[in-house]
Amino acid sequence: MSVETQKETLGFQTEVKQLLHLMIHSLYSNKEIFLRELISNASDAVDKLRFEALSRPELLEGGAELKIRVSFDKDAKTVTLEDNGIGMSREDAITHLGTIAKSGTADFMKHLSGDQKKDSHLIGQFGVGFYSAFIVADKVDVFSRRAGAAASEGVHWSSKGEGDFEVATVEKAERGTRIVLHLKSGEDEFADGWRLRNIIKKYSDHIALPIELPKEVAAVEGEEQPAVEWETVNRASALWTRPRTEIKDEEYQEFYKHVGHDFENPLSWSHNKVEGKLEYSSLLYVPARAPFDLYQREAPKGLKLYVQRVFVMDQAESFLPLYLRFIKGVVDSNDLSLNVSREILQKDPIIDSMKSALTKRVLDMLEKLAKNEPEQYKSFWKNFGQVMKEGPAEDFANKEKIAGLLRFASTSGNEGEQVVGLAEYLARAKEGQDKIYYLTGETYAQVKNSPHLEVFRKKGIEVLLLTDRIDEWLMSYLSDFDGKSFVDVARGDLDLGNLDSEEDKKAAEEVAKSKEGLVERLKTALGDSVAEVRVSHRLTDSPAILAIGEQDLGMQMRQILEASGQKVPESKPIFEFNPAHPLIEKLDNEQSDERFGDLSHILFDQAALAAGDSLKDPAAYVRRLNKLLVELSV
Ligand code: ADP
Repeated sequence: MSVETQKETLGFQTEVKQLLHLMIHSLYSNKEIFLRELISNASDAVDKLRFEALSRPELLEGGAELKIRVSFDKDAKTVTLEDNGIGMSREDAITHLGTIAKSGTADFMKHLSGDQKKDSHLIGQFGVGFYSAFIVADKVDVFSRRAGAAASEGVHWSSKGEGDFEVATVEKAERGTRIVLHLKSGEDEFADGWRLRNIIKKYSDHIALPIELPKEVAAVEGEEQPAVEWETVNRASALWTRPRTEIKDEEYQEFYKHVGHDFENPLSWSHNKVEGKLEYSSLLYVPARAPFDLYQREAPKGLKLYVQRVFVMDQAESFLPLYLRFIKGVVDSNDLSLNVSREILQKDPIIDSMKSALTKRVLDMLEKLAKNEPEQYKSFWKNFGQVMKEGPAEDFANKEKIAGLLRFASTSGNEGEQVVGLAEYLARAKEGQDKIYYLTGETYAQVKNSPHLEVFRKKGIEVLLLTDRIDEWLMSYLSDFDGKSFVDVARGDLDLGNLDSEEDKKAAEEVAKSKEGLVERLKTALGDSVAEVRVSHRLTDSPAILAIGEQDLGMQMRQILEASGQKVPESKPIFEFNPAHPLIEKLDNEQSDERFGDLSHILFDQAALAAGDSLKDPAAYVRRLNKLLVELSV
C-alpha cells in the first residue's frame, strides 16, 4: 500500500446524496448496468486523452496502446476497472465525483416524488453515470492520475456512498483511472469472468477501444501461477464505421445509451455515410424522452464530433439548429482538421453544408416516424413538440417541412391532445375550403367554448385550437401550408370564402344594411373602447364578440412582450354583434339612451370575458349589471 498524504473527508453535495439514494433504491432490478456506465466513462476518458495527445504527444507517456481492463477477485469480492485515459487530478476527483455540475439539478431533484416507481423513470432522464457503482458496491476506491502529471500526484478517492468521501494524494505510476468496487454481500455474482464477459458483450460491444478481461488459464498443479494473459472481449471498432446492414438494433440502442448518457432506448435513429465533395458519417438519434434540462439555456446540446475516427469534442453545437437540440449522436468528418475549434466550426462553410444536410436527415427521420409509427410520433410530440415549434422561426428554408411535422389540438374532438397534423387537417377539409383555420388562447377549455367558433361549428368546419404560450408567436412565422393560408378566426373580418353561398352573402349584406343605425348608435355608446363596430357573420348563439384587428398583436404576444418589459402599442378591439340574438334585438328597440349605454357596455365586457381577457373596469361592469338586474326584478 502506497503512502497516503493530505488525507481529508468531504461531504457530497446534497444533490449527489439524493441521487445516490434514489439510484440504489430504484435500479436494483437492473444492477448490471453499472459496468456499462463505468466503461462508458473510461471510454470517454480515453477519447479525451487521444485528442489532447494530438497536440501534446508527451501525454501518452510512451504508452500509446489505449484500452480498458476489467478484472475481478472472487475471494476479495471485488471488480476492478482500469483505463489508461486522461485520468483525474485531486481537484478533478473532488469536483467530478463529489458534485453534479448539470444546471437545473436542484430543481430536478425537487420534482422527485418519493414514489420509487415514478422516480426510477426520472433517474433515466437524468443519467446515472459514475454513481451507479454504488448499486452493487458498498465501497468504491478510485485511484487516478492525470496524464502528464507527476507519479506523485495521484489521487485516491474512496466512499461508501453515504454522506461523504475521502480523498488523499498517492503515488500512481501509470496515468489513468482504476476503480475498485467492493461488492455488497449478495452481489458476488459479478466477481466472475463469465458474467462480466456477458455483460460487456451485451452493453459495451460498440465501444471503439479494446475492453480486456483476464484469460481463464487453468492452473497446473505444482507449477507456478502463470502471468495473467488478457483477451479482448468486445468488437472494438467504431459502430458508425460499420455497414448498416451488419448492425443489430440492440447495438444501435446500446451505443445510444453511451453517447446520449441516457438510460432508455431511443425512439428512432438514422445512420448515414456521405461520400463525394464532403465525406462524413453520421448517426443521429431521437431520444424517447425529453431530458430534464431541455429548457435550460446552458444545458449540453449538440453532437459528438469525430474527425477521421478520432474524438474531437462533445456537444458540437454547430451541426444542428437549436430547435433540434434534443437530437443525440455522432458525426465523423473526413474533411475537417483535427485541431478544429468551436470558433472555427462556427465559421467554416463546410459546417454550413453539413448542418443543412444533417437537419434534413433529422426532419426526414421524423417524417418517417410520423408516417410509420404514429403512436411513437405522438410520444415524440408530447416530449419535444414545444421545441419543434421554435423551428419555423429559426429555419426558414425548412419551414414547410417543419410545418408538416407540427401537431395541434382541434375542434374535431381530441380533448386538447395535440395530434392533428396539417396534412390530415387539409385531407378532411370541407369542399371549397381553401384556408386553415385556427384560434389561439390561454387554455383548451377557453378556446373550445369560444364564441368565435360558433359559425364553424354550424358549418362543420374544423378549427385548430392553439393554447401553448409559443403558439401565437409560431403562427406569426407561418403564413401558409401546402398553398393554403392560415386564418386566425378571432382576427379581422372573417371571410369564409367559398364556404359561404352566394345567397348567404347577399342575405348578410342586407342585414348589415338594415343595422346601420344600430352600428352608429353603438359606436357612440362605446366611444373609444372600440376601433370599429360591425355586424358579425360568425355568431349563432352569442350576442357579441370582440375581434382583433388584422395587424394587431394577439393576447398571448401582448402578455409575453409585457412580461419581458417591452412597451406594447395600444390596440382596440372590433365589436361585432349578432343581429339575430334577442338581446341585440332588445338593444335595437331600446329608447332610453342611458339603458342603451349600459347594455352595450355589458355586452362589450362580456365579450371580453368570453375571450379570456380581463376587464379594464370590473367594478363598472358589476354596477351596470346589478342595475339591470334590479330593474328586471321590479
Ligand atoms: P458524466 O459522465 O455524465 O459526466 P459521471 O457521474 O459518470 O457523469 O462522471 C462524472 C465525471 O467524472 C465525468 O464527467 C469525468 O469528468 C469524471 N470521470 C468519471 N470516470 C472517469 C474516468 N474513468 N477517467 C477520467 N475521468 C472520469
